Amino acid sequence: MQRKDIPYKTYLTEDEMPKQWLNIKAFMPEQHDPFLNPATLKPCTREDLLPVFCGELVDQELNTTDRYIDIPQEIRDFLKLYRPSPLVRAYELEKALDTPAEIYYKFEGNNTSGSHKLNSAVAQAYYAKRQGLSSVTTETGAGQWGTALSMACGFFGLDLKVYMVKVSAQQKPHRRAVIETYGGQVIPSPSDTTQAGRKILERMPDTGGSLGCAISEAIEVATSTPNCRYVLGSVLDHVALHQSVIGLETKTALDKYGVTPDIVIGCAGGGSNLAGLIAPFMADKLLGKNNIRFIAVEPASCPSLTRGKYAYDFCDTGKTTPLARMYTLGSGFIPSANHAGGLRYHGMSPILSKLYHDGYLDEARTAEQSSVFEAAVFFARCEGTLPAPESSHAIRVAIDEALACKRTGEKKKILFGLTGTGYFDMSAYSSYLRGDMRDYVPTDADLQPGFESLPDIPHNRNL
Ligand SMILES: *Cc1c(COP(=O)(O)O)cnc(C)c1O
Repeated sequence: MQRKDIPYKTYLTEDEMPKQWLNIKAFMPEQHDPFLNPATLKPCTREDLLPVFCGELVDQELNTTDRYIDIPQEIRDFLKLYRPSPLVRAYELEKALDTPAEIYYKFEGNNTSGSHKLNSAVAQAYYAKRQGLSSVTTETGAGQWGTALSMACGFFGLDLKVYMVKVSAQQKPHRRAVIETYGGQVIPSPSDTTQAGRKILERMPDTGGSLGCAISEAIEVATSTPNCRYVLGSVLDHVALHQSVIGLETKTALDKYGVTPDIVIGCAGGGSNLAGLIAPFMADKLLGKNNIRFIAVEPASCPSLTRGKYAYDFCDTGKTTPLARMYTLGSGFIPSANHAGGLRYHGMSPILSKLYHDGYLDEARTAEQSSVFEAAVFFARCEGTLPAPESSHAIRVAIDEALACKRTGEKKKILFGLTGTGYFDMSAYSSYLRGDMRDYVPTDADLQPGFESLPDIPHNRNL
């Protein structure tokens, strides 16, 4: 097909924005293994999940048959406050790299929370409110999820407690202030407000906390407070569902120009943005309509897909959640300090894990943080946008792929997800610019304690 001249930025009209989410599971030839109740080791039923999660979200979590699910009007109205997000043709980056490749990125950082996480926060807050709940709890690592959820809860009038990883709360006081501005309450984790927190403080009084520990605290409060539930910003299938708006908007925009990408790249922490970006493209691939190469990028310091085991594991350090079969480093794995806080999770979306295991998600690659920041600074100077460290993992690989095209002369079309802005990560940028950023790649021996923390159940034998 003859391509039109493609503008720097493509914004859809309100009418072109998605009215339904895409449920990738309904396109998959095989489903991922079910969540297991850790006490009985039987698949989790709807009833097992209802004390922790909102009813509608549980239904979405367990839905493997509806390819499309209507987005309620109230959610679409909120989405219009900050969407559509732009699809950018990175002409300036192409020029700077002198590559024959075409590079496109979908920028999700143009809202106050600064990342794609708002796409799921709004849906989760809406369903919690509609169920008649008065409050929700959650955890936040780098702070993006807590900020997004606070905005959504402020809009729908829900109380919110955010367990924020302690080092992050200390390093990012402004994040905390934004969360509080929208009405959320921030509690640095581990805290003495929960049994899980007190237990960890007893063992490690000086710990800076971890995402897994903050999750345990938030779940404990949700299950012991009337009319309260826990909400999670990544990993779970319903979060991937909500994030499909990223990919759906991208595909509608690219279709206008007759462009199908050859490569789609996204960073992967818990996997939600990548699952959302690839959703309609992967659906087509599963239907045999394209042969796109999908690449997940993770930090070398927290390599769940590339070096983890495909095992049943807890989603939190406190070992309180249902067991999910996913690529994992073990819930006891504590990653080294890394500036991409949103990518420091021990596990990976069960959907992406299954797609990777079955070869549909073609490749997972790691990037070391100094090379990630090199890419981030290069990108900022030619494209103008200051990227989040997490997003810059995808930039790194997009640049590497574009440079490979330069060597071979191939005109590949490369699409990547630019998940957020880096405004709250300037101390990380300073560290890079001063030249004192260190890379850390765990040895096999470093990974061993995490693997030993995997639950010792029949499903995990012969890994
Ligand atoms: C949280 C976050 C990520 C990683 O989360 P996923 O669930 O893997 O998408 C990536 N980028 C940014 C900016 C984030 O805030």
